[in-house]
Amino acid sequence: MLQISLQNPGQFAATHDAPEPTLAPGEALVRVHRIGVCGTDLHAFAGKQPFFNYPRVLGHELGVEVINPGSDPHGLKAGDRCSVEPYINCGRCIACRRGKPNCCTDLKVMGVHIDGGMRPLVAIPARKLHKSEKLNYDQLALVETLAIGAHAVERADIKKDDVVLVIGAGPIGLSVIQFVLVTGATLIVMDVAESRLAFCRDQLGVKHTVTAGPSAIDELKKIGGGDLPTCVIDATGNPKSMMGTFDLPAHGGRIVFVGLFQGDVTFNDPNFHRRELTVMGSRNALPATFRDIIALVEAGKVNTQPWITHRLKLADVPEIFPRDISGNPAVLKAMIEV
Ligand SMILES: [Zn+2]
Ligand SMILES: [Zn+2]
Repeated sequence: MLQISLQNPGQFAATHDAPEPTLAPGEALVRVHRIGVCGTDLHAFAGKQPFFNYPRVLGHELGVEVINPGSDPHGLKAGDRCSVEPYINCGRCIACRRGKPNCCTDLKVMGVHIDGGMRPLVAIPARKLHKSEKLNYDQLALVETLAIGAHAVERADIKKDDVVLVIGAGPIGLSVIQFVLVTGATLIVMDVAESRLAFCRDQLGVKHTVTAGPSAIDELKKIGGGDLPTCVIDATGNPKSMMGTFDLPAHGGRIVFVGLFQGDVTFNDPNFHRRELTVMGSRNALPATFRDIIALVEAGKVNTQPWITHRLKLADVPEIFPRDISGNPAVLKAMIEV
């Protein structure tokens, strides 16, 4: 079968005689229909993904069809359409034992640490498949991206009377925004790029946007009736933005870092203590989050319409990805059809 692997930074290769997968106990055989491209893939292609080993079959945002549900089918049958939770956890470590498989000490993410979905057939633990009777394969492939934002919003534990500032309106920020909108809290989106803020207003119905810069704090206070936001979610992964967030929450407020970078975050302790801030990381997402998102999209409460900006076929990835997808600021979500 066809398999596209990233051989080295900047270099995809197609194999036409890759062996079909064999099933280990608990695994299901699935046919991949859609693969969403995300920042992780772009970083791996650019050679900027830390601790990344080449060659690697990319693809962790998958819309799949069950071909053979395997020895432990978890209620699945052939023909079911599923989203894939691509975080393969150990089931034994402290995080797994305490219901946090998303940050397992030995986590293997498909398409990052182990081979992913850029091939028509993949063996996946059946417990990692989340089915929907209603969603199409495009929507199912978007669930993982949405899950990153949804988990950050779960971490933030947002109430209706919160004023929530989301910093960064890239793909992760947009998925955060979708789920803050569902909470009914007051939402403010901040970014350096006016075009991204316009997208939030026009496509997602965001009422309050603020351009990052020296006047931002005054604008945030104006929107909050004199108070700063009670919750700040940083989706930039930018060190300057992340360290700057410590000045932005109201006293008693909280910060969630969903974006990340390879380095130290430092902050002024009196500033942190005076406000009694709560600071949280957010990594991947929980199994229940996948089920919740599928229900929200099925109910029309989360709109997947604005997401997909580019489409390409799996066989064309070696040619089209470097030319049209990598480094193209117009790409919000590229969807690969298998
Ligand atoms: Zn992703
Ligand atoms: Zn574990």
